[in-house]
Amino acid sequence: MSLIKYLLFCLIAGLITLTVTAAAPGVSAAAGNDAATISGKGLTDIVLPNKAPTGKALPNKALADNTPIEKTLSKIRTIASPGTVALTFDDGPSPIYTAQVLAILDKYHVKATFFLLGVNAKEYPDLVKKLADDGQVIANHSQNHHMLTKLNDAKLESEIVTPQVIINEIIGKKPVCLRYPYGASNAKVQAAIRDQGIEPVSMGFNSFDYERRGVEKMTQWVLKNAYSGQVFLFHDKFEQTVEALPQIIEGIQKKGLGFSQICEN
Ligand SMILES: [Zn+2]
Repeated sequence: MSLIKYLLFCLIAGLITLTVTAAAPGVSAAAGNDAATISGKGLTDIVLPNKAPTGKALPNKALADNTPIEKTLSKIRTIASPGTVALTFDDGPSPIYTAQVLAILDKYHVKATFFLLGVNAKEYPDLVKKLADDGQVIANHSQNHHMLTKLNDAKLESEIVTPQVIINEIIGKKPVCLRYPYGASNAKVQAAIRDQGIEPVSMGFNSFDYERRGVEKMTQWVLKNAYSGQVFLFHDKFEQTVEALPQIIEGIQKKGLGFSQICEN
């Protein structure tokens, strides 16, 4: 092609690239449930307990996270591996439900990731040990489930470090990830987590299992949004979660997807 045509081609290609690049963050922010963080306001995408899912399938929130460049260089996987989804359970261990969740995972030979609260890990060390013995990944969800963005430096460090110490005492290894409660983080919180050699992790795709919308609705919501790379957020502290889990696992398998763990240590 002539030089003029070539230059024209380069100009058009450049414009298309610019347009796509500019549009992408807006799409992610509108669709994800971590919108405030993604849009760079730096803080809080608190999902209120009564906020209902829209019923519309969302793109992979985990991929649309406020991911700093370093994450792509990290060896710690924070999204599910190709062809799989990752099941994650927050806020435990719970004396009632963790063992029930574990029994279901064992039955289906599924390995998951549990983001524990330090305060609960300290109270139920046998459950922590059982999770680890069963090959479940144990990760950090802070000590007391405070909103980390609201804490002073000392308290913030304590919320991050204390569960590391407690869990290490029980299973002999420290978590490599911390999922900040309420999905609330900012640059300071993320830096404080990384300062401890831990990877910050966002809340994942919300199953809304804390709402009492029924097992069927919850299952449909999760299955509609099950695709390669997805990280699902559940809580091992609700009966509804336990009841829905078998059909969620079977539904994911029927879609031809497997399961992988994030934050393996
Ligand atoms: Zn939580």
